[in-house]
Amino acid sequence: MQVLLANEYGFCFGVERAVEMVEEAINDGDTVRSLGPLIHNEQEMQRLGTYGVTTINEPVQIKRGETAVIRAHGVTPQVQKELEENASKVVDATCPFVTRVQRLASRAAAEDRDVIVVGNPDHPEMIGVKGYAPDHAYIVRDETELAALPRLKNPLVVSQTTIKLKNFFDTAEAVKAKTDDEVQIVNTICSATKDRQEAARALAGMVDAFYIIGGRHSSNSVKLLGVCKEQCEKSFLIETEGEIDPHDLDGVERVGVTAGASTPEWLIQKVVKHLESL
Ligand code: SF4
Repeated sequence: MQVLLANEYGFCFGVERAVEMVEEAINDGDTVRSLGPLIHNEQEMQRLGTYGVTTINEPVQIKRGETAVIRAHGVTPQVQKELEENASKVVDATCPFVTRVQRLASRAAAEDRDVIVVGNPDHPEMIGVKGYAPDHAYIVRDETELAALPRLKNPLVVSQTTIKLKNFFDTAEAVKAKTDDEVQIVNTICSATKDRQEAARALAGMVDAFYIIGGRHSSNSVKLLGVCKEQCEKSFLIETEGEIDPHDLDGVERVGVTAGASTPEWLIQKVVKHLESL
């Protein structure tokens, strides 16, 4: 049986960078505490846990002598300040793509302009961005939510990094009806999710079975499963190699493998090796 990996899979740039920054802090002998789970992968969190990495929910939980980690989603300036006051060291692993959205929002607010951010207001990334323009930013899921907003002043439209392109441009277009001023539209969507989906789609038509490695609560992994199922009925979302049922592979000649953006390489290689041994 041939095992084929999709061209793009696993850790995105921002998650890989965050894990590397945490590993550096561990190597420096730090007591590392992440504000919120560093990544949505239980196995990787367990691995980091063996090096003493723990998760806190509030900045007040961090103590002197400890290193606080800001994960890839970023935080508000207020939360960052609290961490800096409480911790001995702060490792800021905010993904640079998220930092860009924060800076754009902050600059527009400083110019007294309104900021429309297309995204989920409950998502940690959006809560962080809002903190950079508290009195000027409106987080809207889609164009329907614009109706509730007042007239907008010189609006800037940006996006949560992981939303769909069509939703972003449809909403940005609709913002034009909410202002008499010029609308500045800056697409801040990151391509990681789309790249993984396109690579999975390209492979799904060529294989008899497909394994998507990722957490059941990881939305990008669940979406990858949907993409694979469109062309390959025998597509399975698994967290570890132990979930592979050899009977599913009866008569299978080629099997595809991909992984969500929070799935570490070591876990992917374990699944590949296991499949190759069957
Ligand atoms: S999905 Fe994109 S924006 Fe989010 S952490 Fe990964 S690289 Fe950064």
